[in-house]
Amino acid sequence: MNIPVSLPLDNDGFLRRECPNCVRQYKWHDGPASEEAENQPPADAYYCPFCGVAAATDQWWTTEQVEYTQGVAMPAAIQVLDDELGSAFKGMSSKNFKIKQTGHLDVPDEPDPLTEPDDMMIVASPCHGWEPIKVPEDTTSPIHCLVCGQAFAL
Ligand SMILES: [Zn+2]
Ligand SMILES: [Zn+2]
Repeated sequence: MNIPVSLPLDNDGFLRRECPNCVRQYKWHDGPASEEAENQPPADAYYCPFCGVAAATDQWWTTEQVEYTQGVAMPAAIQVLDDELGSAFKGMSSKNFKIKQTGHLDVPDEPDPLTEPDDMMIVASPCHGWEPIKVPEDTTSPIHCLVCGQAFAL
């Protein structure tokens, strides 16, 4: 079962991310930020700007994004299950033998959509400037390049 969940971007097209190692948050640009970025091979890991530890590209969900995704997936999954139970009961009935579904599973409400504020400042690394990120205003140097992990001063 594939339930699409869309996560909000801020007005500059950045997606909030959380490091699985140091649990600090920053944002990366969702999709290529420029023509130069389009011509780069897709990355399978990125480096945390704060602690410099690399993680696979699907490891950066924030706590809020995980909770929201589960909150959206759960009602959809229960609804599918309820539909399938209904048709299973129908298939089991025959002339001499009747089964009727009398109740339905409780489908919880979907959570409110996430919103993404336009906070943080844009930073481009000297080595991979085509992959800009956003870090909190009070971030102190050095930070690490998302693409190669190289430390640089803000
Ligand atoms: Zn980190
Ligand atoms: Zn770099």
